[in-house]
Amino acid sequence: MSPAAKSKLDERRLCLHQVTVLQQWSTQQFIDGMQRHGIGAVALWRDKLREVGAAEVARMLKGTGLAVTSLCAAGLITTPDPQETVAAIDELKRAIDDTAAVGAGSLMFVAGGIDPRDKNLESTRKRVLDRLAGLTHYARAAGIKIALEPLHPMTCGLRSVLNSTKTANDWCDVLRADDVFGIAIDTYAVWWDHDLERELMRAGKRIINFHVDDWLSDTQDLRLDRGMMGDGLIDIPGIRSMVEAAGYDSYVEVEIFSQRNWWKRDADEVIRIVKERFQTAV
Ligand code: ZN
Repeated sequence: MSPAAKSKLDERRLCLHQVTVLQQWSTQQFIDGMQRHGIGAVALWRDKLREVGAAEVARMLKGTGLAVTSLCAAGLITTPDPQETVAAIDELKRAIDDTAAVGAGSLMFVAGGIDPRDKNLESTRKRVLDRLAGLTHYARAAGIKIALEPLHPMTCGLRSVLNSTKTANDWCDVLRADDVFGIAIDTYAVWWDHDLERELMRAGKRIINFHVDDWLSDTQDLRLDRGMMGDGLIDIPGIRSMVEAAGYDSYVEVEIFSQRNWWKRDADEVIRIVKERFQTAV
């Protein structure tokens, strides 16, 4: 994709994921900060939400006019153990309830990694898919969409056995409930994929969330060392063009887990740089 294909990005499409300033700000400080910086949409981090509870966060949001694109994240339902499965599904239902309580459009679903008690990738993926199917009615009744987020294949052991846009599409085909299940595309997770353009076109309107962040050439931690847009190797404008060609025209969400750099910086400075890069590197 040539740089010429890049169209100017409307800054009203900027959504900041709370995790980008996770270490610096409480949820109240985050909400206040978004208003100060004129950012109209946020994604919320569930561990942070747990500190005060969904009802309290809903109260904080009331009257701010902030759009909440999603609650991130829940899932981790790969266990082969029946008792652990019951607990994991209960937890996922609580996350669906929390998503509804804060008025978020979707719940970010992270499948869970391979379980050491069962090293079979195929049976693990089948378990996840069966359990997702079982949650269809619960999510539909709550009015919540579940966003299947493929994570980078390097996370297959630890975080997610859902590793490509193709697998997310295949799962949506099996689930046959596009009113409940959608797909979240994160540049950090999908940039390596030579089938990306084709699978994004196949996904089409299933794409309900789009996350941007960069892959640093000297990445030191697969989860917590993401880069600011423009600092790494990903052709983010190129991927945005593909996502938009597939029909996506909603928020572009900045989601940077960065133990080494951005979590150590002044949060207002981080947001100023996010806004600048949103125009020059997305
Ligand atoms: Zn993401």
